[in-house]
Amino acid sequence: MRSLKYCNMRVGTGFDWHKLTTKRQLVLGGVRIESELGALGHSDGDALLHSICDALLGAMGLGDIGEHFPDTDPAFRDIDSSLLLEAVRGMLERRGFEVVNIDTTVFLDAPKLSPYKEVMRQRIAGLLGMPPEQVSVKAKTFEGMSSEPVVIAHAVALLAEKGESLCG
Ligand code: MG
Repeated sequence: MRSLKYCNMRVGTGFDWHKLTTKRQLVLGGVRIESELGALGHSDGDALLHSICDALLGAMGLGDIGEHFPDTDPAFRDIDSSLLLEAVRGMLERRGFEVVNIDTTVFLDAPKLSPYKEVMRQRIAGLLGMPPEQVSVKAKTFEGMSSEPVVIAHAVALLAEKGESLCG
């Protein structure tokens, strides 16, 4: 196994959830999911991309998604969250960071996300300009413990400073 020493590493975590309702489409990881229920939210309610944005912002020490894209701003109403992640990518690039890897978990009772996991992984990797092998999308159900329809996403991101990420 290849062994690399990285320096100037930063880790961040993100967590997001949205109620589900019949009046919305379900979008997760930038991918439209066939579902009777969609996520309530000021934006498109993409909990997975929101958790990734927060993980990346957290790793950079730049606060949270609500500070950068407030849900009181009409400019972000129903916005495609892919645009938010692309904006965060710009922040990473301006500060000289590259994403080493991202690991995520989505909690959703229905539909099963198995058919979508690889598509979401490819989409997220494309949005961030990184190899899909360095993105992980896992899925779980609530095992009957959620009293109302909801989607929850958790993300961890590891960053390294570009050009100085290998040392020793
Ligand atoms: Mg959200």
